[in-house]
Amino acid sequence: MESSTSEWIDLIDPSTQDVIGKVPISTAEEREEAVKSCDSAFKMWSQVPIQKRANVMHNLERLIRDNTEELARNITLEQGKTLPDARGDVFRGLEVVQHCCSINSLMMGETAGNLAADLDTYSYRQPLGVTAGITPFNFPAMIPLWMFPVATVCGNTMLMKPSEQDPGAAMMLAKLAKEAGLPDGVLNIIHGTHDAVNFICDAPEIKAVSFVGGNAAGEHIFARATANGKRVQSNMGAKNHACILPDADRAATIDALVGAAFGAAGQRCMALSVAVFVGDAKEWIPEIAAKAAELKVGSGFDDDVDVGPLISVAAKERVESLIQSGVDEGAKLLVDGRDVSVDPKVKKGNFVGPTVMTDMNTDMTAYKEEIFGPVLNCLVVDTMDEAIEIINNCPYGNGTAIFTQSGAAARHFQHHIDVGQVGINVPIPVPLPMFSFTGSRASIRGDLNFYGKAGIHFFTQWKTVTAKWALEDNEHFGTVMPTMN
Ligand code: NAD
Repeated sequence: MESSTSEWIDLIDPSTQDVIGKVPISTAEEREEAVKSCDSAFKMWSQVPIQKRANVMHNLERLIRDNTEELARNITLEQGKTLPDARGDVFRGLEVVQHCCSINSLMMGETAGNLAADLDTYSYRQPLGVTAGITPFNFPAMIPLWMFPVATVCGNTMLMKPSEQDPGAAMMLAKLAKEAGLPDGVLNIIHGTHDAVNFICDAPEIKAVSFVGGNAAGEHIFARATANGKRVQSNMGAKNHACILPDADRAATIDALVGAAFGAAGQRCMALSVAVFVGDAKEWIPEIAAKAAELKVGSGFDDDVDVGPLISVAAKERVESLIQSGVDEGAKLLVDGRDVSVDPKVKKGNFVGPTVMTDMNTDMTAYKEEIFGPVLNCLVVDTMDEAIEIINNCPYGNGTAIFTQSGAAARHFQHHIDVGQVGINVPIPVPLPMFSFTGSRASIRGDLNFYGKAGIHFFTQWKTVTAKWALEDNEHFGTVMPTMN
């Protein structure tokens, strides 16, 4: 529906600063209407047979495939990442939709028969009701697709609030979901910022909140929504370390580090933003710096560009000030991405080029903060156990990766590291959706992870039935606690 709001947020192309649209801040009445619409649709949608809900996901999968290019172009325009990376954003979300097509087996429950005479017990999963999703700017398609397909295929309805900085892909996906057969009211989108988020945390109709974004918002949402009795999954910030052993495949490791540190301008929650070089592996740093300096920075629409803009002027200023803080605190810049040169047609964009910082320690602000830009912090240690200690002492625990040719070293690392996602010679180990996207420590709040089995569990609750069907002589339980002997 057209919003009747008088408050709009400019939607800005991060490569040019052109205003490419306006995002309405949904009014209080519109928010209320959206949640009521989800609430009344739940009564109908939760009764739709599971196979029919799966069919909607099959249709949605095809429609997303058919519209990948349009979605990707919108992401590049609003978010700035390169077109191939934007296609990846869509594709990684599409995988979750594919997984949702198997909901009839994913939602199966448990049964135990003949627990007493003529008595069986069975548990099955039921939807919760109205659920909500709040998403960040950095994966405008993938993260909405972590949420609404899983929620709705389980029989819930969902109210989404996409990032106000690039809500276009979520809107396009909602349109495709409608075309795929999702009835009106099952998915509603509201726009806005803090007020919309607080509305979601407080609305009594909403039973569960799925959040992905930074720690300030995530902690706030977790506290406020759980205080209101809601179930919350909150995936938050990161500072992901790579541990590089000297026996690793040098060329493949350097390639992986450069891609994972600077790809998407470092605006991935799984970006490798710290490289911990063990022993002689430190000799590789100059080659990494040389490769970083070769990356081309510019508009995500240009074929030869590797690194697009940061999302906003504020994000650029923040990243540049964190680079400066490193310099002020004694770090050395092997490559300085500030004042990077770009094609004159995008000279106003929020560009920061790949930046490589060495001579660092873990007390520096630039190490402690999640920079969320194309900046690689380099640390040097003597042993793998020192690297493990550093990684486990960092408050964040989203992702990590070890590069080595030794299975024994990789196994030791994997067992002793307290991080949600571990890559072994894999730089950005985002799991396929038969697994879950996990996390540890300050990167996560809540017990049920996104997608995979845990995702289904998040959006459902158990119902357990104990049934007695006797052909003759029904038992009289009397006033004592029934036992099953
Ligand atoms: P953000 O926290 O600024 O915004 C996320 C959402 O929360 C947006 O919809 C925004 O409108 C809302 N919001 C922001 N501040 C708020 C506040 N104080 N109160 C209430 N609502 C608020 O995050 P972002 O900048 O859009 O995204 C980048 C962050 O997301 C990074 O920290 C990144 O690591 C994290 N992230 C984490 C994962 C993960 O799975 N762990 C995945 C992607 C991104």
